[in-house]
Amino acid sequence: MSDDVRLKLAVQKSGRLADDSRDLLERCGIRFTKSKDQLFCTAQDFPLDLFFVRDDDIPAFVASNVCQIGIVGQNVLGEEKLSSRNQKLKSVEEVLPLNFGKCRLSIAAPYDFAYDGPKSLQGKVIATSYAGLLSEFLQKNSVEAEIVEMQGAVEIAPRVGMADAICDLVSTGATLAVNGLQEREVIFKSQSVLIKGQGLSTDQGRILDRLMLRIQGVLEAQSSKYIMFHAPLASLEDICSVIPGSDAPTVLELQGRPDKVAVHAVCNEAVFWETMEELRARGASDMLVVPIEKMLA
Ligand code: ATP
Ligand code: ZN
Repeated sequence: MSDDVRLKLAVQKSGRLADDSRDLLERCGIRFTKSKDQLFCTAQDFPLDLFFVRDDDIPAFVASNVCQIGIVGQNVLGEEKLSSRNQKLKSVEEVLPLNFGKCRLSIAAPYDFAYDGPKSLQGKVIATSYAGLLSEFLQKNSVEAEIVEMQGAVEIAPRVGMADAICDLVSTGATLAVNGLQEREVIFKSQSVLIKGQGLSTDQGRILDRLMLRIQGVLEAQSSKYIMFHAPLASLEDICSVIPGSDAPTVLELQGRPDKVAVHAVCNEAVFWETMEELRARGASDMLVVPIEKMLA
């Protein structure tokens, strides 16, 4: 591979995904310095260039091969594919869910709106910034409603008499509550994803594979824990059967204790207090659960 082959990645310039995108790259060992109004920067230690843009523009940057890959919410990719006239967007693919930026696109309405399923929206006015995804939902449910497109502050529309209901992104529901709205129907679940276009050369494809391997390692490490405890030799098998998401624990001798062993295991799932109590009930002791920083299978 020649040294000047690089991959261009579009990320959100500022907003809800900006910090998490940067953190993820840093955890992958990819560092970059970015000043506030910079559009472009070059990563150190990895053949990657970063473009900082508005999240809504990320799918188009990737579709046109200005950037070969991007980090964006599934909601934005889904909406752009449905509502943009740019045909090239259809070929942009999701390659890896990134486990942050989780939210849902939901229909919400004032508390006194009698909601009894999608049919209750028949003939109503719904305000949204997601006309594409909302139209698709309404069509699937054979509901005809008027869509009012707004770019922001959608949640005020019912209060000012612009709409009967809204369709907007929700994560905690706090904004809805403050505006006297109740979430009635989730129409789309979203998280951030790594996306790619069709314009990658073979060498760029190799860089993407390396990047994905690192990202997968970071994500696995985030959800995994290293667990250590002492166990009576007699109940070892029984104890090992309750370690969550682990197939081959390491069993070590304990100096001067022939009746006991030390067990070390990587758990690919969360380790809850209940699991620790279960292990203890089977005779395990001296338990330690520690985070893992990096993993590479
Ligand atoms: P930009 O200036 O880049 O266009 P924006 O204002 O459109 O930014 P943000 O509010 O920064 O967007 O949200 C970016 C993404 O974060 C959303 O598209 C969505 O995928 C995700 N997200 C997670 N939780 C929420 C939430 N509660 N509300 C809105 N977006 C959320
Ligand atoms: Zn945006």
